[in-house]
Amino acid sequence: MGVTEIHAATATLDIFHRLEKEGFGELHLKVDSTTGLHAIVAIHSTKRGPALGGCRFIHYDSSEEAIVDALRLAKGMSYKAAVSNLPLGGGKAVIMKPLHLNNRPGLFKAFGRFVQDLGGRYITALDSGTVLDDMDIISEITPYVASKTNDGDPSPYTAQGTFRGLQATVKYHFKKENLNGLHVAIQGVGAVGYLLARHLHEVGATLSVSDIDKDAVLRCQQEFGATIVEPHQIHAIDCDVLAPCALGATLNDDTIPAIKAKIIAGCANNQLAREHHGQVLRDRHIIYAPDYVINAGGLIHAATRYLHLSDDKAAQHIEGIYDIIYTICERADKLNQPTSVIANHIAEERLK
Ligand code: NAD
Repeated sequence: MGVTEIHAATATLDIFHRLEKEGFGELHLKVDSTTGLHAIVAIHSTKRGPALGGCRFIHYDSSEEAIVDALRLAKGMSYKAAVSNLPLGGGKAVIMKPLHLNNRPGLFKAFGRFVQDLGGRYITALDSGTVLDDMDIISEITPYVASKTNDGDPSPYTAQGTFRGLQATVKYHFKKENLNGLHVAIQGVGAVGYLLARHLHEVGATLSVSDIDKDAVLRCQQEFGATIVEPHQIHAIDCDVLAPCALGATLNDDTIPAIKAKIIAGCANNQLAREHHGQVLRDRHIIYAPDYVINAGGLIHAATRYLHLSDDKAAQHIEGIYDIIYTICERADKLNQPTSVIANHIAEERLK
């Protein structure tokens, strides 16, 4: 079972069976009744180093749902760190967001004590629902925190890595380095999508963009001469590259048959609705840059800051996304397998 498929398989959660099957090491739960903290830390692997992964702070209907999410995300982080060749394992934290939150700093301090108790095997970071201020509060309690305020926004690094990964797919498919005149459709021009658009504009690509935020698309029209496309149509336009940079699960049974692009290369997480959609794309001769490989720039940045490596080292590492994406495309053709499967195999080899 791969990274995208660990969800919802459990009406009854046989936890030890699940942990063993998914290659897990540890699952930790913490309750702090003073602050209302209900937190989970799932550590998939520490074989390559401490398990770095964000802390998600959202509402869940049940603790089972929260545990399943933590497991799924932690395994994904192991694969992402391994395929990116970082000296890190994979883990993830989930804090179940209470309906009424009275003391946010207190809650994150209690979470900080939980992280501290794990002795550095888990390093926390930003994720959905957490903000840099939360990380700063956690860092008052424990040093095991990446992505604090002074580490900066990861989006430019994610955009740079996505740009280089996209270039690798173009080189592989069209046999050219130059993106001049290449037509790229970007779905979602928020923090990363906008910066990707800027990189592409600078090298002469033609852009079509969509976003549910009207100001976001108007900015791209004004600054880059981008054509604005309705959100429900962007996946189907006639273009060379489709760059999903908004939501997950946008590559699915409804959208894939309509895609005209030869390449899919964008930063969004969990783009394949189901694991088998990697094969469906391959059957349609569409090259798919696996999401967790191409969007690793932000993680590489956070990891290099945490490990006190130089900015040059971080930049070199992000450059490496070009080579790994190119290698994945080559192996997919050689072994006649989807790129998503090849990426998982590379990660699994490195996790052994
Ligand atoms: P963001 O929220 O800044 O941007 C997302 C954009 O998508 C927003 O402008 C939003 O209005 C737009 N959007 C939402 N629904 C849409 C729809 N149906 N059609 C078109 N546009 C829509 O987020 P971001 O930080 O740019 O991240 C984008 C994606 O990349 C997310 O999936 C995120 O998980 C992933 N990612 C981001 C980073 C990072 O460093 N920020 C790192 C790795 C992965």
